[in-house]
Amino acid sequence: MRLILFGPPGAGKGTQAKLLETELGVPQLSTGDIFRSAIKNQTPLGVKVKAIMDSGKLVGDDVVVALVAETIAKSQFANGYILDGFPRTVAQAEAFDALLAQRGEKVDAFIALEVPDEELISRLTNRGQGREDDTPDKIKVRLGVYKQETAPVLAYYKAKNQAKIIDGLGSVEDIQQRILDAVNN
Ligand code: ADP
Repeated sequence: MRLILFGPPGAGKGTQAKLLETELGVPQLSTGDIFRSAIKNQTPLGVKVKAIMDSGKLVGDDVVVALVAETIAKSQFANGYILDGFPRTVAQAEAFDALLAQRGEKVDAFIALEVPDEELISRLTNRGQGREDDTPDKIKVRLGVYKQETAPVLAYYKAKNQAKIIDGLGSVEDIQQRILDAVNN
């Protein structure tokens, strides 16, 4: 099962991806988590992406696509994964399709979580994980980047008839059930 969880910052992708690991039996693959861990461990990748990530802007497509290509080739992702935070631009979506085609694989489901802006802003402001990019000015940047660069990814999967849109408001359990229903239909 190769699932893409899509949505704006604060939509709940990470929360849902973690819960779905148990339900679906495949691991979460979060590009944001990989970058944060690289920054924490001060690896060459971490050093490269820190400033751009802290600013709320997107890491370059080449860097992200290379990271995903390398990651999905690992044995723990052989049976699939729940992608969270990728693809985030149409160029990334196209590169991912090419990568999967090369591997003779395909995406099984693309699930978009829909959450109104006011709710996103309040969730991100209250997240309180001490993330450098969860300050009011960075949140504004990230929502702007989402609208400009990431929202077109939904249109890309819609055009391929692969997108399923889920209401992202409600309890974590209810949303998980909506996602499972969408995956199974
Ligand atoms: P959120 O969804 O709350 O913004 P993420 O952990 O998914 O959190 O992403 C945090 C940051 O990591 C992004 O603002 C961006 O700088 C970087 N990032 C993560 N995934 C990608 C990606 N696919 N392409 C470019 N940048 C990315």
